[in-house]
Parts: sequence; C-alpha cells; structure tokens
Amino acid sequence: MKKFTRTISGVTPLAVMTRPASCPGKCLYCPTYQDAPQSYTPESPAVFRARACDYDARRQVELRLHTFEDMGHPTDKVELIIMGGTFLAQDVDYQYQYIKDCYDGLNGVISATLEEAKKINETAIRRCTGLCIETRPDWCGTEEIKRMLEFGATRVELGVQTLDDDIYRLVRRGHGVKEVIEATARLREHGFKVYYHWMPGLPGSTPEKDLQMSRQLFTDDRFKPDGLKLYPTMVVSGTELERWYQEGRYTPYDNETMVNLIIGIKSVVPKYVRIARVLRDIPSKFIVAGLKDSLRDVVREKMRHDSIECRCIRCREYGHRARLGYKIGEPCLVRLDYDAANGKEVFLSFEDENETLFGLLRLRLQLRPVPVLEPAPDGNQAIIRELHVFGPEVPLSGQKKESAQHKGLGRALLHEAERIARDEFQSGRMIILSGTGAKEYYRNESGYRSEGDYMVKELKP
Ligand code: SF4
Ligand SMILES: [Zn+2]
Repeated sequence: MKKFTRTISGVTPLAVMTRPASCPGKCLYCPTYQDAPQSYTPESPAVFRARACDYDARRQVELRLHTFEDMGHPTDKVELIIMGGTFLAQDVDYQYQYIKDCYDGLNGVISATLEEAKKINETAIRRCTGLCIETRPDWCGTEEIKRMLEFGATRVELGVQTLDDDIYRLVRRGHGVKEVIEATARLREHGFKVYYHWMPGLPGSTPEKDLQMSRQLFTDDRFKPDGLKLYPTMVVSGTELERWYQEGRYTPYDNETMVNLIIGIKSVVPKYVRIARVLRDIPSKFIVAGLKDSLRDVVREKMRHDSIECRCIRCREYGHRARLGYKIGEPCLVRLDYDAANGKEVFLSFEDENETLFGLLRLRLQLRPVPVLEPAPDGNQAIIRELHVFGPEVPLSGQKKESAQHKGLGRALLHEAERIARDEFQSGRMIILSGTGAKEYYRNESGYRSEGDYMVKELKP
C-alpha cells in the first residue's frame, strides 16, 4: 500500500545501511550487536533489508527503488540517507566505494569512479537531489568535510544529544560541547544543512534541564540547527545503561513526563527548524525501559487538546497540511533573519496566512570564504544551503498542475536570495551546495556553473 507521507515533502528519502563496524564512540546507551551496525538492533527493518543484500549499497538502493515504484511512488528525486554507526570512521576506501555504489544503484549502470557516477547522476532518470550522512561532532573535521563534499553530501546529522559536558562525561560520549560548536560552524561555513540528534532523558539530566538546553539550542548562535531528530532515551537490552537501570543508578522519565517535555521542546522550536521524527527504529522487544511506542500520536493529540502548535517545517509543509484538510491560501514571500556561527542566516519561504509552507531557501552570509573555494573575492560570501519546494513529489517530466512544485516558487526564492546577497550584502557571487541531481536545475534555470563541489554564479550589480 502506498504510504502517502513518505514522498509528501517532494523528494523520496532512501535509507541505506553500512556494514557493521565498531564505532569510535563508547556511549553507554548505544545498542551493540554483532550482526547489526552499531546503534541498531538485528531486527530493525532497515537492518533486515540491508542484511538481505549483504550490506551491498547498490543492491539496497535497487531494492528500495523497486519497492517504492511498486508502491506507486515517484523515484526521480531521491534523498540518500547513509545509516549505521559512524560511517566516516570506517575504512576510507570502503567509504568511497560505498557512495559510488549508491550512485550506481540510482544510475542503473556501474561507473569506474565516484566522479563518473556523480556526473552520470546529474542527468540520470533517478537523481540524487540530497545526500545525508550521520556523524559524531568529533568526526567532522576538515578531512571529513572534504570527503563529504566529494561524496556529494548536502546534509549532516550530528549526534549531539545534549549540551552539557558533565552529561557527556557521564554517558561516555567521548567529546564535549566544544566539538559540537566547532563541527556546527565548520559545516555551516561549507554550506551544509545541519541536523542534530537530541536525546532528552539522558543520565544526569532532568526534564527542566532538558527543556532549558532545548531553548539554548535556538537562543545561542553557536548552535541553531536546521533540523532536530528527537530520540528520547531508552534502555536497550545489552547496553551499559541497562546495567545502570538494573542497579537503580538510572531511571527513565515516565511517559507523561516525556510527552510533556517533547511538547515543551516542540513549542520552543523556531520556524526555520524541521523536527524530523520522534523515536528510534528499535523493536520494542529490545527495549527494557523507557518509551516503547512512538509518541507522535499522543503528542499530537495532547497538543491539539491544549491548543499548542508546533511551528516546525514538517508540521507546516503544504503536503501534510493538504492531507489533513487545512484550507490552503495563496503563497506570500516571508523572510526571517538570524545570526548563527559567525554569520547571518536568511530563511526565505513562501507561506500562506496560516503559515502553511510551500517552499523554503536557506541563505547564509559570512565573511570567511568557503575554505575549499579559495581564493575568493573580498567581502561577504553568500551561500545557499537549501532550496526546497514542497508538495507531493512530481516527476521531473509529467508535472501535475495542482502541485506546488514547478510553479516557479523555486526560481522566485533563488532570485530573491541573489538580490539580497548582491544589494544588501554586496556579495560578488552566489555559491550553492547542491545535491548531484539538482545541479542541472541550477545550470539550466539560472546560469550557474560547477566549481569544485559547488554551483557558482557571479552576481552582476
Ligand atoms: S557515537 Fe553513535 S553509534 Fe557510536 S557508540 Fe555513540 S551512539 Fe553508538
Ligand atoms: Zn513540528
């Protein structure tokens, strides 16, 4: 049966899992099983699928594409999500091969090199419009960034979990807040979208402290992630945390406390953030204590009852709202400026009067040149980190009239970003970090050219 929500954001997410390998982390809550990648259980659906393909990336991509197509989903715009432990800490040759295999799976042909596979994908039938990699803040240095750019990555999910050095020490996380700040700045400066994994209820925290840190995420310029994945702490069998739980050293929050906390977090999240999901992919038989079921419905129900609205991107997307029966109005251009990591972020969107979101663009202005593109002209550097138009996915050919995509909203957002960069910030050029499969769009629609891993255009006065 077609699961409508999967492609409602305009792009089909396709998750692939890397082979089991040990992670440099020793986090005491992390599931560790021999026959599953670190942080997953052997019976998680994604692990079943990956194992059936011997963890071969190309076969996983092909299998998922067939499944999506059987379910009636378009597959011409795909966001690849690389899952499983800390991929960037695995053998480097394996990493390059793995990513090439992913592109080969999309392209339907086997290329000799990653570069060739990416080039083919630029005009392939199934294009990779975004690529996401999960990593630890201390595995996100200059080398890793350079590699991720070569992979064609556009979004990075950082395992942040908390903002407290004492909690990091207690849970043996192996890095501190300093690494989170540095990784966030480095990623932004290179044009990546940055999501945080966030774990309320860790040992050493309290609901009040969790809420206070969640507020800090969005008031402190050193953080301000573009998205959040909420993973309430669970006690998974076989972990060190289970031992703590059995010995009475750790007690998870009860469900009601966690529900209230999640609502609290949702209500402090600004409009430029996407809350991607709540709860990890862990079958309940592996959960000793903590949440066993997804709280999404309970949270939604309680929020509706208490008239609290989540203003995150996901909750306001055109496709979701249309499905929920919202009255949809006319899109107007809205602008939100904020400071983050030594730069200015301009969040442009098309919204109707109820804040239903039709499309968005993230423009960043910073003094520091994008390091891999040096030498750069003097003055402000303008980087587009995301351009996304929502609505049920529309195949690149055969557009549906009623869709928000292809209505020119993307072009209008791009023009406005170029105007702001040129007229308000005197930037001489625009730089876009784009998925491999979106490069043709920028090339053909707006005169951008490839430069290194970016799309670039001079902005004429
Ligand atoms: S970094 Fe992630 S995968 Fe590695 S041990 Fe910690 S939680 Fe597990
Ligand atoms: Zn939301």
